[in-house]
Amino acid sequence: MSIGFLLPDRYLTSVLQIKADWLRAKNVKAMLLDIDNTLASRVTLAAGAEILDWVNEMKSEGFLMHLVTNNWHHAVFETAAHLDLPIVYKSMKPLPFNFVRAMKRLGVSRREALIVGDQVMTDILGAKILKMQSVLVLPLTDSDRTHTKLLRNVEKIVLSGHQAELPDHIDPFHPDYPSSDGPPT
Ligand SMILES: [Mg+2]
Repeated sequence: MSIGFLLPDRYLTSVLQIKADWLRAKNVKAMLLDIDNTLASRVTLAAGAEILDWVNEMKSEGFLMHLVTNNWHHAVFETAAHLDLPIVYKSMKPLPFNFVRAMKRLGVSRREALIVGDQVMTDILGAKILKMQSVLVLPLTDSDRTHTKLLRNVEKIVLSGHQAELPDHIDPFHPDYPSSDGPPT
């Protein structure tokens, strides 16, 4: 089997690109969100103001959200409190149990929920095991735990030749485009 089965439905630069219209078009009612390097920086261990605004916007659009993290340190509970979202910690992703638990709490089916995270071998593999829709985002920082670094090597193979979608307002051909690599090809 090709490793391409691990590709997400969308590969985005940031969760901020997830919009209500697209979720409705995909019949998504709920999002199961990773924390580390998806919503909160692994360096500052906090979710920024833009993330809080996005979460609040999604709430006001009627979407349900649940945090699903493999982490169990106090910072994840602070993030959950800050964003005012329910959380399952020590989730053992990619194992499906805690994704299922979160969906039961929210009262949604697998078809109605979207898994969002920054890691192919935990978040996206978990979605594939459950035959769910998924969105991969670029990690907020380069900082990863040691075992995550190992999984990132597999991820590089899965994602080779694929580029994250750029935010709408960024023009990669603009001379001020802030990248040393230049625009994606
Ligand atoms: Mg993560």
